[in-house]
Amino acid sequence: MALIVQKYGGTSLGSIERIKAVAERVKHARDRGDSLVVVVSAMAGETNRLLGLAGALAEQPEPRETDVLAATGEQLSSALLAIRLQVLGCPAVSLLGYQVPIATDSNHGRARIMSANPARVLKTLAEGRVAVVAGYQGVDDYGDVTTLGRGASDLTAVALAAALKADGCEIYTDVDGVYTADPGVCAQARRLARISYDEMLEMAGLGAKVLQLRSVELARRYNVPLVVKSSFTEDSEGTWVGHEDRSMEDVLVSGITLDQNQSKLTIAGVHDRPGLAARIFGPIAASGVVVDMIIQNASADGRTDVTFTVARGDLHRALEVLRGVAAEIGAAGVRSEEQVAKVSVVGVGMRTHAGVAAKMFEVLAAERVNIEMISTSEIKISVVVRAKYGELATRVLHDAFVTGGGVEGAAPEGGQG
Ligand code: ADP
Ligand code: ASP
Ligand code: MG
Repeated sequence: MALIVQKYGGTSLGSIERIKAVAERVKHARDRGDSLVVVVSAMAGETNRLLGLAGALAEQPEPRETDVLAATGEQLSSALLAIRLQVLGCPAVSLLGYQVPIATDSNHGRARIMSANPARVLKTLAEGRVAVVAGYQGVDDYGDVTTLGRGASDLTAVALAAALKADGCEIYTDVDGVYTADPGVCAQARRLARISYDEMLEMAGLGAKVLQLRSVELARRYNVPLVVKSSFTEDSEGTWVGHEDRSMEDVLVSGITLDQNQSKLTIAGVHDRPGLAARIFGPIAASGVVVDMIIQNASADGRTDVTFTVARGDLHRALEVLRGVAAEIGAAGVRSEEQVAKVSVVGVGMRTHAGVAAKMFEVLAAERVNIEMISTSEIKISVVVRAKYGELATRVLHDAFVTGGGVEGAAPEGGQG
């Protein structure tokens, strides 16, 4: 008998009909003889609706209260699914974060899991019942409800799979796997049979929300193999996420990602001297804003411009801090562009193939898409472009690297040209 953790996302549970369908799937799996832990998200749109209510009452609602509120989304779907399972003759019990318990720190809204206690879930399974666990939530040392960050029901599932030493962790969503690009943006995208943790980490970090970033980190650390499948179809194998194997390197590019949720800031005309970057980015970090790409451009007169990107939701906070810094250090000014997009080409094969960057720039130039910033790592190249070109850039890069096969005469071991 296998112990399987299944996770169902918001769209999969988005209506009464969908909850009935998921209950049938769970019952079917249990009838095969497996022990089942089912992690649920809030019904589609519910978390946004709840946060919207808080936003209608206060400009900056107290994070402790927002967590109490937001966690009710998963409370609701866990109870509804357990109710339906019982109707199907499948004994089930809902468990909220504090009941498991999923112990977290007290960073409301983005709490980190300290431990996932397997005891109560194991007891539930031993009683022959399905454990329906509310995702996305935990409890801190004070007994307060916390939430783990947007999309973090995936994280709950992986944390439980690791703690329970589960035989499998299945992530059910509205697409039948991880694709070479967001299928909603790029009709040519195709499903990947397998992807390495490292590539999936890059893709998740660069905007492919099919798996939440921290869930992939945790899966890699605890060797939890994941499979991503659709809850809407029966017949797809889905995508396996696991350790890299040799054959994966033969594929130059695994996917193209698009992050439309970026903004760009520039502090212009600063005196170029040691400690400058620390003067700028120290206060930004202290305000809790995470900076992504940075470029610094010195000009001949000893002055320099520093440009960087942040998540769009952090733009206003970052601007406020940057204006303060600019006044203190006598910068010429601060500029910002609210809507930019980050488009990236990801693949472990890039480690051993030259020419990916050159080809990427050529393809974008042919479409007259201006590149505003560039950053690279061993297995990815990202560019920032005007937001309105994000989808176009994704499609033409997909045509060039995935459909078209990539770089002619790519030289193995040549590095990233
Ligand atoms: P859930 O509610 O089940 O957690 P999400 O909306 O978080 O589902 O993630 C699934 C969505 O991720 C898909 O509908 C798809 O539009 C989007 N997505 C973005 N990039 C990719 C990709 N490379 N492969 C598959 N889906 C992707
Ligand atoms: N309901 C939460 C969210 O919308 C968590 C999740 O769906 O994974 O972000
Ligand atoms: Mg999700």
